[in-house]
Amino acid sequence: MLAAGLKACARRVGFDLVGVAPAVAPEGFHELLDWIDRGYAGSMEYIPRRTEAYAHPEHVLDGVRSVVMLAINYRTDDPRPPAAGEGRVSRYAWGGRDYHDLLREKLGALADWLHAEVPGCRTRGVVDTAPLLERDFARLAGLGWIGKNTVLIDRRMGSWLFLAALLTDLELEPDAPHETAHCGTCTRCLDACPTDAFPEPYVLDARKCIAYLNIELRDRPVPVALREGMGDWLFGCDVCQDVCPWNRKSPRSAELAFAPRADLNPADARAFLRMSEAEFRWRFRGTPLDRPKRAGLLRNAAIALGNAGDRSAVPVLVEALADPAPLVRGAAAWALGKLGGESAESALAARRRIEPDEVVQSEIDDALAAG
Ligand code: SF4
Ligand code: SF4
Repeated sequence: MLAAGLKACARRVGFDLVGVAPAVAPEGFHELLDWIDRGYAGSMEYIPRRTEAYAHPEHVLDGVRSVVMLAINYRTDDPRPPAAGEGRVSRYAWGGRDYHDLLREKLGALADWLHAEVPGCRTRGVVDTAPLLERDFARLAGLGWIGKNTVLIDRRMGSWLFLAALLTDLELEPDAPHETAHCGTCTRCLDACPTDAFPEPYVLDARKCIAYLNIELRDRPVPVALREGMGDWLFGCDVCQDVCPWNRKSPRSAELAFAPRADLNPADARAFLRMSEAEFRWRFRGTPLDRPKRAGLLRNAAIALGNAGDRSAVPVLVEALADPAPLVRGAAAWALGKLGGESAESALAARRRIEPDEVVQSEIDDALAAG
């Protein structure tokens, strides 16, 4: 009865999927250890730093008995594809606000309902940041299966889903786990990945994933060998979900917060590259695009312009050679080397004479050698 009431409340506050899993040691824990051992977490040190905490949800909430798993569909209508000088932003960041805040509000409403029903119960809401294997618990709660692209998929909703969890010390009746998987012989996601980031089905080498390179790797240069594969992605990457047949008919979300912002769909890479710190804060503070910070985002814009192969981007890239952030200057040098031409080369040579940063000097040398 309590679980049924809780699920009804979850739907009222706007969750599309809800299920209950028992608070057990997740099956995927040993796979996580193996994944970390293989180095696939890259520079995301916050995962190995608290590995043991992923072993059981009791490390997230002491005395936990149930994990209520929730999902919201964030699919909206697709905007037009990018034109020259524009780049793409991952779907989850199209809206005007950070989804974590929105989901936390909804989790708060759900927790309030439970506390009113069972005074004295204990709860903790989780969106992304706690050491909880959310996809494993979502499968255990019957929400869907984990696809070869490592993302949770529901037959009706597809995979454009934000996951959240409400942990509680109450014993709620669990749902049946989602025991079947429906990828079959399909390998579209594995074949379409531009940087070959899946060493095998169901395993992602985050170090090669564009969403890692252009978001998590925010304070250092992207490895040269992976830059071309980043294509026109300015923030994140959706390729392995875009090609998934289970997303073809996924319904459109009614949540206004997910409606695409005009300036991100697509985004003007040249305007990004001219953004001051103040403009960056004004446009993106409190949104997912804040995560790579200004320097990371402008670095991504320079790489996208280099990949586009359009020499009309040379003037803005030359301006970026004087950017205060070495990360931006280095990426601009790489892009100018890729575009080539007389004005790119003379700007690189002029900057080389005054460039104080050794890493940027080396980027310029490589760019000049490539020209
Ligand atoms: Fe590959 Fe993009 Fe999927 Fe990452 S998000 S695994 S780069 S297709
Ligand atoms: Fe599974 Fe195919 Fe979707 Fe990949 S693209 S997750 S293999 S159904």
